[in-house]
Amino acid sequence: MELKTKGIPFGINRPIVGVVNKSTLDPGSIMINTFPGEQLIEDCFTLSTTGVPPYGPNGIYAIPDLNYLNDGDVIVLNTDGVINTIYRCESRHNFLLFTERCNSNCLMCSQPPKDRDDTTYFYNLYKEAIPLIPKSCSELGITGGEPTLLGERFFALLELLQVNLPDTEIHCLTNGRSFAWKNLSDRLGDLSYNKLMLGIPIYADYADLHDYVVQAKGAFQQTVLGLHHLAANNVRIELRIVLHQQTIPRLKKLSRFIYKNLPFAEHVTFMALENQGYTPHNIDKLWIDPIDYADELEDAIHYLSDFGMNVSLYNAQLCTTPKSLWQFSRKSISDWKNIYLRECEKCEKLDACGGFFASNKLLFSRGIKAFE
Ligand code: SF4
Repeated sequence: MELKTKGIPFGINRPIVGVVNKSTLDPGSIMINTFPGEQLIEDCFTLSTTGVPPYGPNGIYAIPDLNYLNDGDVIVLNTDGVINTIYRCESRHNFLLFTERCNSNCLMCSQPPKDRDDTTYFYNLYKEAIPLIPKSCSELGITGGEPTLLGERFFALLELLQVNLPDTEIHCLTNGRSFAWKNLSDRLGDLSYNKLMLGIPIYADYADLHDYVVQAKGAFQQTVLGLHHLAANNVRIELRIVLHQQTIPRLKKLSRFIYKNLPFAEHVTFMALENQGYTPHNIDKLWIDPIDYADELEDAIHYLSDFGMNVSLYNAQLCTTPKSLWQFSRKSISDWKNIYLRECEKCEKLDACGGFFASNKLLFSRGIKAFE
């Protein structure tokens, strides 16, 4: 599934954010309205598969394919001719990438941080895009990098979401470290944003191991302090644990730590590894076959669930998961990167199984076997 394409820009002097409108007479082109509903000519841009005509109109031309775009999708036309999709009407897996910068550098980061300041670009982009997202949007993710690195602009975008999409569930991935600073957690609490949930990773029950996984000294202390500050502000929290060689040996202890020290978490998710970003480079330190950690996972999930915590298992395949954990397994992989293997074609459980990340096509459990 495409989220990005490129053509030849014409008259695009700044990033143009707009809504796709396919009701044009020319089947090879579509129109972009920056103010949907208002047919102001100067606010329309053209996307076309044909070459640039001698006198405009402004837009992007010679695009290989436009079929993946649908009416109502929100996109950005960049000055270099790149077209990025910001919001797809037909998907439940939309997310806003707030920045590619990060203050951690996790061993298994699927989107390795980039050391350039993109915060102004993304802030300006979403300031225009958020009001264009349909109010019927049921859920929307925020991701990074580390979104809180936008500083005050992070809160400004949250306020914009709160006003424009009051019924949308917002799920924001953050390492939580910024909230060790009480003024920031208080600032978030002041929003009283009950549709917002923060997804915050915790990888161990003690500092050295967590800090090693995220490659940042002091991160554990900041994250745990941040979690308590957020809880004191009634901010909804999800804890996220990625399952790999570093986290599995202390998974049992981590589950006890969570119940005793972070019982306010509304949701705890255990997530299988995505073979993307840094993971292939650190694979020797990370990969462990899911069928080899079934006992640890069963113990941790049942422990938390038995004590009344809301627990899920993400990114796991049913044939490598103990049956007692199937009730916790969710189809969590975003549609644009979710695949199944040839073995799955004959499997009776295919519809119920979450399948694989596309990046795990060559890295999967030796226990994959169809239910027949
Ligand atoms: S064979 Fe494929 S579809 Fe069936 S349970 Fe395993 S991973 Fe899922």
